[in-house]
Amino acid sequence: MRAWRAALHQDPELSGEELRTREKVLQALRELGIPTTTFPGSLYGVLGLIGERTAGPVVALRADMDALPVEEATDLPFRSRRPGTMHACGHDVHMAALLGAALILSRQPRALGGPVKLIFQPSEEDGTVGGALPLIQRGALERPTVDYVVGQHVDPSLPLGSVGWGIGPFMAAADEFRITVRGRGGHASSPQQGPDAILVAAEIVTGLQALVSRVRDPTEPVVVSVGSIHGGTRHNILPEVVVLVGTVRTVSAATRDLMERTLKQRVRAIAASLGARARVDYRRGYPPLINPGPATRTVVRALEVELGRSSVVPVERPLMGAEDFARYLEKVPGTFLRLGVGVPGRSASLHSAGFAPEERAMVVGAATLAAAAVGLQRSGR
Ligand SMILES: [Zn+2]
Ligand SMILES: [Zn+2]
Repeated sequence: MRAWRAALHQDPELSGEELRTREKVLQALRELGIPTTTFPGSLYGVLGLIGERTAGPVVALRADMDALPVEEATDLPFRSRRPGTMHACGHDVHMAALLGAALILSRQPRALGGPVKLIFQPSEEDGTVGGALPLIQRGALERPTVDYVVGQHVDPSLPLGSVGWGIGPFMAAADEFRITVRGRGGHASSPQQGPDAILVAAEIVTGLQALVSRVRDPTEPVVVSVGSIHGGTRHNILPEVVVLVGTVRTVSAATRDLMERTLKQRVRAIAASLGARARVDYRRGYPPLINPGPATRTVVRALEVELGRSSVVPVERPLMGAEDFARYLEKVPGTFLRLGVGVPGRSASLHSAGFAPEERAMVVGAATLAAAAVGLQRSGR
């Protein structure tokens, strides 16, 4: 696993460009004697199938493949050789752990209670279409039909050696909005001549927070953040147009619909109240990731036997980040887990240039995936 991970880590590729990563995964699966499937064009996913002829439930295990546009600042001996690109989200660890699980399962065919499908998925970091949806549309959950799906993500906030689980909302939906405010440009000394797009934009920024505090159910987390505002050129000119771009995070389908509807209404109403117009482009990203109870409980029981009770920890709150593993859980039951890679005082955050997860976590990660697959197969369909 260390060799696989090092090779993947030093040759990172961005979303939609995972060509050499695919080659490395295919090479490793070939060495393990596991049959593979690839996809045409630039969808660089890989499927593997273990125990094709074993009767019983089919469990899919998924790892993501892509890296990020980050200049690596670790002192790892196998640090990125590609300037400006880095596995800063641990997807290299996810792939190596899945290959480790493949090694364990393919060497112990008698332990299998059905086929195990390996899904190496590109483009998780893309944030809009992502990689899960195209793979599902091209049949990744069919032939054989997948009954359960399991995935994991490294988490520096959980101690090394532990695995975190949760039932219900586990990660957020991430939607993007772009608001174009149109006022009337002119001399800043004569604001009475028309709606001031800057003032309208400012009212919108504060007005959006009233959706969070006064529209949604206060027991359910929601985030609305404006990440960029652009308008204007200098101190004495009022711009005609101001553009605000931001993100909305929710953890249920109902709240997601509510926030989209009320955000559009509120923005238009605020603009109209100041005599201006605002256009809202709202683009949905990944759906909320909801872990179903029965499959999650089955996996937790299997992990408690495999890793020991104290290593399997409940995660109380959802993360407001998004993850396109949610797309698989919209189709089949399963669970998404957090793999502890944290060491006190030494762990940088995900997506940071210094992120260097403890690679011993790969042992736990491989055991976790293998045990989850076998546990779900024993539980039946
Ligand atoms: Zn990430
Ligand atoms: Zn990630």
